[in-house]
Amino acid sequence: VAQPNVNELDASKLTYKFTDMPREVPAAGVHQINGNSVCTDHMVTVAWSAKNGWAAPELKPYGPLSLMPTASVLHYATECFEGLKAYRGVDGKLRLFRPDCNAERMLMSSVRISLPSFPPKELEKLIIALMSVDGPKWLSRERPGSFIYLRPTIIGTQPQLGVQAPSEALLYIIASYMPVMDAPAGGMKLHTSPNDMVRAWVGGFGYAKVGANYGPSLLATQEARARGFGQILWLYGQNGECTEAGASNFFVIWKTAEGKTQLVTAPLDDRLILDGVTRRSVLQLARERVPEMEVVERKYTIDEVIKAHSEGRLVESFAAGTAYFVCPISLIHHRGTDVDISMGKAGEGGSFTLMAKGWLKDIMYGGENHPWGVVV
Ligand code: PMP
Repeated sequence: VAQPNVNELDASKLTYKFTDMPREVPAAGVHQINGNSVCTDHMVTVAWSAKNGWAAPELKPYGPLSLMPTASVLHYATECFEGLKAYRGVDGKLRLFRPDCNAERMLMSSVRISLPSFPPKELEKLIIALMSVDGPKWLSRERPGSFIYLRPTIIGTQPQLGVQAPSEALLYIIASYMPVMDAPAGGMKLHTSPNDMVRAWVGGFGYAKVGANYGPSLLATQEARARGFGQILWLYGQNGECTEAGASNFFVIWKTAEGKTQLVTAPLDDRLILDGVTRRSVLQLARERVPEMEVVERKYTIDEVIKAHSEGRLVESFAAGTAYFVCPISLIHHRGTDVDISMGKAGEGGSFTLMAKGWLKDIMYGGENHPWGVVV
């Protein structure tokens, strides 16, 4: 909650200090060097303190942060982040996809983890400012169809041990290359979460994009990967409600017993899942563009999915999120049972999956002029 008499986050106060050691843009297709992310020349940082509020934002050369070993984030996980991409369009323009949604979600996450609040529009302006500076070099017009990943982050920096809300924080925005984490050929294989692990719980914070949701999920993911699966399908509760697939929202399309085609995904209301920007976009476009399909946000269980499969009613499945985009699922493994899912005629994904992917791609890369595609 904003305190009176302290400074609000104000993007118009941004100062610029340009690098005198420009970094080399890697060859197309190179996303990391020696296991390190390749970031652009600059980053934006903004310091916050409870006493003074937000300092003037700074755009400056990308480089290490300086933190005391006692910093709040390093002990109590006072951290939240966002992930969105900037896209070099087929028309040569640079676009963000619904950055307002990411800025709003970052505010929600920040408040949830006792970090400061801010007007989301100001964060959006800072993201755009970074892309205005680094976009032309790092997303060259010669590479239409390319993208870069933006990672706004807030950390609690107060150098004091003791479990309390930090009175100092740092907001920063970096931009990094990232591979197209497209579906592996043949589709993504999911393994349901181990019996003794949940990602999120009612009353918890699974709906917030805080780092504390991710570290603890790595163990199950690592084990599943070693066995040839791409991601965990996180189940919740005694009945095995389907929630999310890795760091993506999870969807199935099935025929109901009455023969209707339904697109189904987990609901937001019990706050177990992240309100994905891709999820909302897919739901809205499906409602607008495929009126004959029912679009349902409700609790549904892995047993319902298995039953639909065994009755020949499971039509397709996909995961949706910024990193994996719209990713067809070819198999779900649950306690000894393999659910094989159709990958469509060409083996590249079901027909709705491919259609939804195409719609979003067109908006992101300027094939379709749409208010969700925000030109930088
Ligand atoms: N669920 C989780 C847990 C995630 O981390 C993400 C990635 N932000 C998503 C879903 C997908 O969200 P979005 O479409 O906004 O990337």
